[in-house]
Amino acid sequence: MRARHALISITALLTLAWALLAQAQRAGGPMTMPPAPGSLPAHKFEKVAEGVYFSTGTGSINTGSNGAVIVNADDVLIVDPGITAAAARSFVADVKTLTPKPIKYVVDTHYHYDHAFGNQVFGPDVTLIGHDMTRRHLMANVLQQRTYQTNSVQAIASRFTQLNDQIAKATDPQEKAVLQRQLAIHQQYADEQKLIKPTPPTTTLTNDLTLHRGGREIQIRFMGRAHTDGDVVVFLPQEKIVATGDMVTNGLSYTGDAFVQEWPATLEKVMTLDFETVMPGHGAVFKGKEHMKNLQAYWRDFYTQASDACRRGIAPEEAAKKIDLTKHAAAIPAAKAPGVDARGVDRVCDLMKNPNAPVR
Ligand SMILES: [Zn+2]
Repeated sequence: MRARHALISITALLTLAWALLAQAQRAGGPMTMPPAPGSLPAHKFEKVAEGVYFSTGTGSINTGSNGAVIVNADDVLIVDPGITAAAARSFVADVKTLTPKPIKYVVDTHYHYDHAFGNQVFGPDVTLIGHDMTRRHLMANVLQQRTYQTNSVQAIASRFTQLNDQIAKATDPQEKAVLQRQLAIHQQYADEQKLIKPTPPTTTLTNDLTLHRGGREIQIRFMGRAHTDGDVVVFLPQEKIVATGDMVTNGLSYTGDAFVQEWPATLEKVMTLDFETVMPGHGAVFKGKEHMKNLQAYWRDFYTQASDACRRGIAPEEAAKKIDLTKHAAAIPAAKAPGVDARGVDRVCDLMKNPNAPVR
């Protein structure tokens, strides 16, 4: 997978991080030993407001996307349970270190595997909430589709090849030990994939759903199509916090089943919400609306160049190499090399023929 593609696929992003780590090692930098495979905590919680936490992985297992924990008067809501049943079970266990209150609500920001495949661990006492389209996707052949096959199945296989190769070449015992631990963690993740049973939300929304839990108001809102056709944001009006899923990340989100043409307008609507803090689907928490404006400009240019190539009949693979969005690199470092994900261009061409083209 080319470097620029790696920037848009989160699984591949991790691969890139590992590669950079290996590079640091070659340059004489330290290699950090990950925590023991499967050990708790698997999640780091960053307090964003009273009872509101942003969640990322510690590295002991593959947790997938970022998540959020919202502790209410009597119960807990979590956003995006993670990539596997093991990820979600460890999320539940780690939440117990924050509060004894039970998790009663899980919100899927969208249907992608790295956010929603943890759904399967929750019983009937937990309300799984998502958009109608998220339910529809998770009831379809999501395991056979391009998004899962390329970002997960193929990426897992390449990661095995890469790690085994690095282990074979490693001469430093410390480096070898770190790589072997990374391999063990990756093996656990690969094993967990075999246990995936895509599980749809049981409570769905078309536009809005608001939970009033004690003094907490939690708005779950569909603002338009963007990263998928079922993206919802979780908005806390009193705390001025929004969790966006992959509609907003610190890098460039995957575009293989996106609606790039509609994405800027959807972000415009999101920006009408009165928030100060953003919890993105991947990357760190940030403040303000500037990054969303930069993403709007990026996706507009992406669409202009991709749709032009589609109109001229250029094959997506070829067009993707030539599309140049490097003028956005100052605002969005992930755009620093020319070229984009061919799957995104392919998707733009599909949607030009049919505005409701199914995912592949
Ligand atoms: Zn996604």
